[in-house]
Amino acid sequence: MATSRPLVIGNWKMNLDFVEAVHVGQQIGVMLKNRPAEHTDVVVAPPFVDLRSVTSIVQSERIAVSVGAQHVSAHENGAHTGEVSVSMLKRLGVEWVIVGHSERRTMYAMSDEVVGATLRAVLRGGLRAVLCVGEDLSVRDRDGHDDFVRDQLVSALRGLDEGFNELITVAYEPIWAIGTGLSASNEQVQHMMTHIREVLTGLSIEGCRVLYGGSVNAENAEGLLVAGGVDGFLVGGASLRAESFLAVVHASNDCYALKR
Ligand code: PEP
Repeated sequence: MATSRPLVIGNWKMNLDFVEAVHVGQQIGVMLKNRPAEHTDVVVAPPFVDLRSVTSIVQSERIAVSVGAQHVSAHENGAHTGEVSVSMLKRLGVEWVIVGHSERRTMYAMSDEVVGATLRAVLRGGLRAVLCVGEDLSVRDRDGHDDFVRDQLVSALRGLDEGFNELITVAYEPIWAIGTGLSASNEQVQHMMTHIREVLTGLSIEGCRVLYGGSVNAENAEGLLVAGGVDGFLVGGASLRAESFLAVVHASNDCYALKR
């Protein structure tokens, strides 16, 4: 297992309206009060329209989670219909932003260039960025995953001021494992964790947590942490219910507590 304090992020995607989001947020709060996860950083990333409600209950009920957004504009303000800016997120109490999720890259044509610009906007605004990288099945089948992921990392991270390092997290999310119920194996993940950390070192980015995402659940979390060597998880489907999300959180927390 990696040595950093684990980070578990729930990506709610386009699920849970604001009433449902408040309900799940409150359930997470109650469950974390009954069984704290003091060794683990926990983040939820609801849809934009839920952010105000979720940050409000997190603050008023002192729930031990931070709130993230699933995307943000690379632009500061202006004529960008339908977009949301970093400063708008900050005013809401949002602390994290997922950048370059594969669904943004593939379904909404988010290019490497836009991913890089968005990452810089997030960091300049002082928010924490979770940079998502990962190959699709055709790349994996032709054994191109190492090069593909390295290129995505270099494109987004090259030339960044080292002062931003502590705001960066990387999430390795092979597209073929997202929402499929077919997680990457511990060996595949372990290989990619080593590769990503080497690339990050080459870019002078030290101390950055590297997460795994792709069909993570309570059953596979421990193996991915211990044998896969991940620093935590980006969780989609299993984050939509408080019980299944906290099962991943507690698996991470217990692993880290036992290792210390
Ligand atoms: C994701 O979309 O980031 C994700 C990892 O989804 P799932 O856990 O459902 O595979």
